[in-house]
Amino acid sequence: MSLHQTNLTTLQLRAIDAAHHMHPFTDTKGLNAEGARVIVKALGVHLWDSEGNKIIDGMSGLWNVNIGYGREEIIEAVAQQMRELPFYNTFFKTTHLPAIELSRLLAEVTPPQFQRVFFTGSGSESNDTIIRMVRHYWAAQDRPGKSTIIARKNGYHGSTMGGASLGGMKPMHAQGGLPIPGIVHIAQPYWYGEGGDQSPEEFGLWAARELERKIDELGADTIAAFMAEPLQGAGGVIIPPSTYWPEIQRICRERDILLVSDEVICGFGRTGEWFGCEYFGYEPDIMAIAKGISSGYLPIGGVMVNEKVAQVIADAGDFNHGYTYSGHPVAAAAAIANIKILRDEKIVERVKTDIGPYMQKQWLALGEHPMVGEARMVGLVGALELTPNKQARASWPVETGTVGLITRDYSFQNGLVMRATRDTMIIAPPLVISHEEVDELIGKARKTLDQAWAEVKLRGYV
Ligand SMILES: *Cc1c(COP(=O)(O)O)cnc(C)c1O
Repeated sequence: MSLHQTNLTTLQLRAIDAAHHMHPFTDTKGLNAEGARVIVKALGVHLWDSEGNKIIDGMSGLWNVNIGYGREEIIEAVAQQMRELPFYNTFFKTTHLPAIELSRLLAEVTPPQFQRVFFTGSGSESNDTIIRMVRHYWAAQDRPGKSTIIARKNGYHGSTMGGASLGGMKPMHAQGGLPIPGIVHIAQPYWYGEGGDQSPEEFGLWAARELERKIDELGADTIAAFMAEPLQGAGGVIIPPSTYWPEIQRICRERDILLVSDEVICGFGRTGEWFGCEYFGYEPDIMAIAKGISSGYLPIGGVMVNEKVAQVIADAGDFNHGYTYSGHPVAAAAAIANIKILRDEKIVERVKTDIGPYMQKQWLALGEHPMVGEARMVGLVGALELTPNKQARASWPVETGTVGLITRDYSFQNGLVMRATRDTMIIAPPLVISHEEVDELIGKARKTLDQAWAEVKLRGYV
């Protein structure tokens, strides 16, 4: 009998979970003492837990449920594909209809330089693929020395050995012997936290030129690629100053370095453009995609490759790389149905011209709250920097993350999922959120800030 057919209480479900389930990115002891929240269903932008609480999902699951929950078109497409062909591979001179259709659809919705895709099962697998691909690209042109990849501190590129090495998260590097060799990290364009007295524009140029200094220090003939997120998601929704990306593109072009955009969060409409590179105005050679490609209904990812790179890879013979589930037919069917909804219902355009500006106006107004040092938002992804002193952009006189967690807990109690990264609150709701739901979300966020502010004053943190 499955748990669906039982009448176990929440406490019993938590006990089973605590006994057998190891959670990702989790302090197991702490969680098991507290008990996990059991999510039982979802529709549109709302979740329900096993206690019957209705929660607005301000994070789109894990930044991925772009079209919201419960879309019958995807469910139908998946069921039909399951019956017709639940699995076949694409390794040995075979292909199938969903892989064919999805590759063409991706060529249509991505920037024009991208006509080809290599399928993976996730964002991490996409970035691991990119490590091998860019090194192979240079080696195939008799330049095997061009192998180092430059990425950024506090970037996030996944959790596999390659992905976590490309990422610049210290707590991740501290476990498992990372980063792997051949990956180096430069400064992030985090003006609020690290810009000091410089203007955002000056600081953006400085941060971009860190790439130039690193390439020149190591020698361009040792560097394969630069990889970055258009805006950093997991790192705290860090939106680079306008001067940053044009300068990065200039540096990569002048020094013959491949430019790789990790679009796992920004892709498929999050910024109000289809891809983050279009929002920030640069043209990558390679893009990692996942998350919003299927709105999370099934796991799938991919690597978009421009013609320059694709030609070299093709001319070099076998590319000895692939995953059993590269182009999985059922996951591909989910992605096709999802992308068609995004396209046919003009959901990305709606983020740019309607719901994005509507939410940004209210979100940025939260910046006037005494506890908020900066409110920022692009498309439907934003952050609030929590501070005891707005003018000084000061940090809290307690361990980093304490106030973020206090605020996150109030938010959950109020029926809103906001995420805390350090002492930064993050929001990234489904792109289909309505005006009324934005009002509801903002009302809950404001109430949460008031409660958290009262508590930090009571605790003497201000
Ligand atoms: C989530 C994420 C990844 C990793 O994707 P997974 O599907 O979790 O492997 C990679 N890059 C970015 C920018 C992400 O946000």
